[in-house]
Amino acid sequence: MNFSKETNMPFDFRSQTILISGGSSGIGFAIASAFADSGADVIATGLSDEVVREASSLDSRISFRTLDVGDLSAIEQLVREIKSLNVLVNCAGMLLRGGQEFELENFERVLDVNLTGTMRLCSACRPLLATSQGCIVNIASMLSFFGSGFVPAYSASKGGVAQLTKSLAIAWASDSIRVNAVAPGWIDTPMTQPLVQNTERSHPILDRTPMKRWGRPEEIAGPVLFLCTPSAAFVTGVILPVDGGYSVA
Ligand code: NAD
Repeated sequence: MNFSKETNMPFDFRSQTILISGGSSGIGFAIASAFADSGADVIATGLSDEVVREASSLDSRISFRTLDVGDLSAIEQLVREIKSLNVLVNCAGMLLRGGQEFELENFERVLDVNLTGTMRLCSACRPLLATSQGCIVNIASMLSFFGSGFVPAYSASKGGVAQLTKSLAIAWASDSIRVNAVAPGWIDTPMTQPLVQNTERSHPILDRTPMKRWGRPEEIAGPVLFLCTPSAAFVTGVILPVDGGYSVA
């Protein structure tokens, strides 16, 4: 078995093309790097030219593109430029703290990015994935399973991502496209910095997590890559928690 030097990933994705939305930072960047370590051609997107520029300077093996997953015509343009595609990872996501998601305009925006954005990319990539008999991995959340009194739109969107994953797994099995999701627990990324850096808020999270620590973005990558290998050829419609035991405690 070949292990990549960089991440010890026991996977071989040579000659495969991978598209990752939200790949400019945090979990998406770690997934993009792990695919690159495993020999894949990786296209990763970020929301702005600025974040894309920064990410490009961190890993020159990855082809970074600016993309707002709310913009259907930009998605269609990007997908038209891709000749073949083996894996789509939907990692773009946002949340709004401080009660903002109770305002309808914000609620709709978060749903549009996290849930409809996922569906936009899945639909646009379906023909390419049907040709390659490829697969999709969506990034869900612990809030796919639990409610949240603070971020109702985020929670509703991630619950939706889980159900969308199952539905597309059923609908597109006849195209030989597998559709799975990974549900990260509490991971130390730019999105969670306000919690990581606040002891009062991080204490209850770590207290409930059996492994008693924040997860690292690289720890989401391995399970994502596994779901895209022939070893997972009969796995579809799964929402795989990667959470240090948080969801079973
Ligand atoms: P992050 O903020 O580093 O990553 C979010 C990514 O989404 C960024 O690349 C950003 O550019 C992109 N993005 C935001 N809005 C977008 C839009 N409209 N169009 C395109 N891209 C957009 O944070 P992260 O924690 O790495 O989050 C990555 C994914 O993991 C998200 O879907 C998030 O919901 C999910 N997640 C994170 C955690 C955690 O604890 N960090 C837990 C569960 C799920």
